[in-house]
Amino acid sequence: MKTARRIEKLPPYLFAEIDRKVAAAQARGADIISFGVGDPDLPTPPHVVEALREAARDPATHRYPSYTGMPEFRDSIAEWYHQRFAVKLDAEEEVQPLVGSKEGIFHLPIAFIDSDDVALVPDPGYPVYETSTLLAGGTPVLMPLTRERAFLPDLGALPADAVGRAKVLWLNYPSNPTAAVATKEFFEQAVQWCLANDVLLAHDAAYTEITYDGYVAPSVLEVDGAMDCAIEFHSLSKTYNMTGWRIGWVAGAPEAIEAMKRLKTNIDSGIFDAVQRAGIAALAGPQDYVADCVATYRRRRDLLCDGLRSMGVEAEPPKGSIYVWVPVPEGHTSESFTTLLLDQADIVVAPGTGYGPSGEGFVRFSLTISDERLREGVERLRKVVT
Ligand SMILES: *Cc1c(COP(=O)(O)O)cnc(C)c1O
Repeated sequence: MKTARRIEKLPPYLFAEIDRKVAAAQARGADIISFGVGDPDLPTPPHVVEALREAARDPATHRYPSYTGMPEFRDSIAEWYHQRFAVKLDAEEEVQPLVGSKEGIFHLPIAFIDSDDVALVPDPGYPVYETSTLLAGGTPVLMPLTRERAFLPDLGALPADAVGRAKVLWLNYPSNPTAAVATKEFFEQAVQWCLANDVLLAHDAAYTEITYDGYVAPSVLEVDGAMDCAIEFHSLSKTYNMTGWRIGWVAGAPEAIEAMKRLKTNIDSGIFDAVQRAGIAALAGPQDYVADCVATYRRRRDLLCDGLRSMGVEAEPPKGSIYVWVPVPEGHTSESFTTLLLDQADIVVAPGTGYGPSGEGFVRFSLTISDERLREGVERLRKVVT
């Protein structure tokens, strides 16, 4: 059997070695505390689960869903955008539901990237931007994100050749994995840059609702000119603890949404209508549950950052996301520190290099474990970090 060349071109899965070590440690009975995976441990709000139960009992939801999503779900997305960002979207032309935002993020390059085209990708960043570009036959060009520049790309410093070939610019704020946030001014510059260079701005906004200390994350669609060059991916996954439900959307520039719609009719057959009805319950229902979850993440963030700082580790409490991006102690690489924590403390963290070469020197802690386990993890860290 011979696989396609495109499969061989995919970068190796950097967590495979860790997974192997975790399995080995667990086999010898180790009690592993995992700060590795970014998957909310808190349950989906009960009223959303109830909406699914009711909808699943209605045979009208059992047939193929519409490719473009239930009109009522698209309306609730447009209404949520209006309430949250004061952005007015046409639910018909400017909103497309997705089978989880990863589905749309993965498929976008098939609609926008020909061979020889470039997608500008944050480094470190969510790995799908790069792999989807590769699988579409395009060239990902990494934009190094550094602490000195607050993990924002320096668009003026991108190589001219890459800019000339660029079709898509990926951004993600609040960011996975750096937990950095962006100002509206930065989005204004990015939109101007995209208009000037005829590039689609694709903003992954999975974490805009999980922010701390009074910080409110902007939408790129708030910016003048964005509806001519930008789209934004959103997801119910992190906001409403619905990662297993597979529901999200993309909204913005109608030309781009049209391209995504045309592509998707050839790929999937939409989201289970009962899940879309549950999505309406999430977006249109009470939002206090989200605030409670954010308070939980904030408490965990402080437990972790205070603990790390008391050991002399520079853990800056982030303003958004469910991650803490931590520089490794001197003398360590991302990989050696990850290995030390696993071997000597039975703790799993994600090495920064798993998100791109510029992640070297960092590890990512996820805040999706209970306070109790998190406290225990901090005590174990204290024994190995000096
Ligand atoms: C979790 C995550 C997603 C995926 O969300 P789904 O809607 O569950 O597919 C997208 N982007 C980033 C940066 C994420 O961390």
